[in-house]
Amino acid sequence: MKITDLQVSNPIYVPFKPMTDAINTIPAAMTYTFLKIMTDEDITGLSINYSGKVAQVIIEDLLKPVIIGEDPINSERIWEKMYWATLQYGRRGIAVAAISTVDMAIWDLKGKIFNMPVHRLLGGHRDTVPSYVTGVDLHYTNEELIKEVNEYVKMGFKMIKLKLGRKDPNEDLERVKLVRQTIGPDIDLTLDVNNGWSLHTAMRMARKLEEYDIFWLEEPILADEIENLAKLARETSIPIAVGENHYTKWEFRQLMEQGAAEVVQADIGKCGGVTEFIKIAAIADSFGLPICPHHTEYVDASLVAAVPNGLFHECVYDFFEPMGQLFINPSEPKNGEISPSDKPGFGFELNEETIKKWQTKPSPEKMRWIVKKGWRWPPYL
Ligand SMILES: [Mg+2]
Repeated sequence: MKITDLQVSNPIYVPFKPMTDAINTIPAAMTYTFLKIMTDEDITGLSINYSGKVAQVIIEDLLKPVIIGEDPINSERIWEKMYWATLQYGRRGIAVAAISTVDMAIWDLKGKIFNMPVHRLLGGHRDTVPSYVTGVDLHYTNEELIKEVNEYVKMGFKMIKLKLGRKDPNEDLERVKLVRQTIGPDIDLTLDVNNGWSLHTAMRMARKLEEYDIFWLEEPILADEIENLAKLARETSIPIAVGENHYTKWEFRQLMEQGAAEVVQADIGKCGGVTEFIKIAAIADSFGLPICPHHTEYVDASLVAAVPNGLFHECVYDFFEPMGQLFINPSEPKNGEISPSDKPGFGFELNEETIKKWQTKPSPEKMRWIVKKGWRWPPYL
């Protein structure tokens, strides 16, 4: 079998509820594109990507020429060709996100060739995995926060993630206290600062947060400050979770060797795709660490189920629910668990009606705002 062509769809603007965390603001919509890889045997691989036009240029101009004519079974060979095609200005960031998009479509294709769901093709550790829920809720009032958390508990989730990183850290502490009181001791609570704090703010906050039985503290400081993450991990009993802004097995190995990551959160759509994710999972396993991917909706449950140290699927509910409308009968969490599709590949079936409806570009103020540095208090201590 040979790859004959590759197509990136028109942008699709998925409408969302307003969401904020310490560095991101999404007022009403985000852009997605689909990637289709065609073969000479009429089997097509599909993936979804949120890196927009920039990734599209890399995919069409740099990756397409090196994968046309390749046999899609040879995913290692294709990955290596793509990595070297972008090496001189890639290695991380958008180039690796573009590689990830192609690699996910290759694995969807491989599943269809073998008539097997991806999680089984990769080794099939389980058919059902736990799913936790994330609220992107830094702007919520206390009343809105309690309402959200109660809804998640009612849906059956056993772990909830809360965003922190307000200008006043005392407000963060109040929110944690409030949520812990609301959910009681039997639901796990995890916190995400999205790179928002300085090392010393993180150290002070971690000490104060310990009494709330926190399952993990995610991206407390800038992802680039690997030594500081390791220092914090040594200082606090709360496990440090990082990975959604890290790339490739090389960077993840460094994070783990230095003790900077205790929960490994590679994003399948950014870290290098399925091919790279399973290697990162194996490295984590060798360190005795769990892997808990950052959300890549409708792909990550398959990967958590495939590997022995897969911890949780992440359901960012306010993304997950509208994005589900892009597909026909997508897998969804029930009572805090999710089963990846048992159809070949990732089991995507596109809902063409919704896709057509969401092709009109919203006004700029409704789109995701430029990511900004979080407020640091005090700024440089
Ligand atoms: Mg996060």
